[in-house]
Amino acid sequence: MSHVADTAQPASTTSVSNASSSPTPASLPWIERLVSIDTVSRNPNLGLIEMVRDALRARGIEATLTHGKGGAWANLFATIPAHDGATHGGIVLSGHTDVVPVDGQQWDSDPFKPEVRDGLLYGRGSCDMKGFIGAALTLVPQMQQTKLAKPIHLALSFDEEVGCVGAPLMLEELARRGVKPEGCIVGEPTSMRPIIAHKGINVYQCCVRGHAAHSSLTPKGLNAIEYAARLICYIRDMADQFREQGPFDDCFDVPFSTAQTSTITGGNAVNTVPAECRFAFEFRNLPTLDPEPIFARVEHYARETLLPKMQREHAAAAIEFTKVAAAPGLDATEQAAITQLVRALTGNHDKRKVAYGTEAGLFSLAGIPSIVCGPGDIQQAHKANEFVALEQLAQCERFLGKFIHSMSVDAHAH
Ligand SMILES: [Zn+2]
Repeated sequence: MSHVADTAQPASTTSVSNASSSPTPASLPWIERLVSIDTVSRNPNLGLIEMVRDALRARGIEATLTHGKGGAWANLFATIPAHDGATHGGIVLSGHTDVVPVDGQQWDSDPFKPEVRDGLLYGRGSCDMKGFIGAALTLVPQMQQTKLAKPIHLALSFDEEVGCVGAPLMLEELARRGVKPEGCIVGEPTSMRPIIAHKGINVYQCCVRGHAAHSSLTPKGLNAIEYAARLICYIRDMADQFREQGPFDDCFDVPFSTAQTSTITGGNAVNTVPAECRFAFEFRNLPTLDPEPIFARVEHYARETLLPKMQREHAAAAIEFTKVAAAPGLDATEQAAITQLVRALTGNHDKRKVAYGTEAGLFSLAGIPSIVCGPGDIQQAHKANEFVALEQLAQCERFLGKFIHSMSVDAHAH
């Protein structure tokens, strides 16, 4: 794309070794630079954020950073104003900068040294979701050169992969500043097909406290594992109920809400009554279902049924819950302007709903109608040898080019 030739792009760090005839996407240098920075959620992302901030600053765009976790992690929000200087309204292009760990995975190349082989860009985050971020950054000069009727915003977050921890700080800051975008496109990998709904994520940790005793004297103790087991069975019964009785939405791959226990630890010796049992459980609710009453049922069963029984055995009895992570579901309407815009830009009108969560639910909850659409296949995310097809990146660039035009004064005049 010749109109992005003047972009201040970082130097390429990759040798392109494919013999494919498809042209190299203009966004490749930006994506390579992003993938080269190890932003696994447990590591600070500030290096990446500051690099993007500096690149935007070089083009006269001042970004706002919201820091978290002691300052070494940050979100970035930047606005390319409309031609009349307006910064309110407009559309957000959103992506998370963190990636999932590579521990224990067998990679054929260094996950943090991006490599193109046979038309595919390999590297951790190439698909989820530095491809989209790199494409958006590449097109910033085009956004600036276009006579925009409405502003375009860039939103980069941290800690999405550990339960959408970072984005709420950015959304609070936007609300404080009174910035109210009209819509948001979250560029998670969807093979550039619009996703209008996804489930919510609700993760809890539970600690059941009993009382230790020699295992020959069970009436003197209180067995924490046995009561944890009853609670776990209750959660499973709820899951069975979702499966049998719904509510259902057949547009989802798993068309009902789900629940499961995922980890458990407890006890310290075969001849000791266990004093403690900890387990983690989650609900993945259909977006039309409020997750709070679901959790309230578990909490109610623990407090009203199990705890009185436990206390009759020992006064030290306790059941404690901690919310570990929560991300609201997404349920965009077909009538929403952002849905219609992305449908028009992609020409794709299939009603797709997915089980995995994204930050689109958070943006929606904050009053910014959102939809998910980005390059790459979710099947390649989180795995060893994660990749994004160059063809997908090119498709994303074309999509963003059309998007920028749709925001222009020219497009609004028609
Ligand atoms: Zn992602």
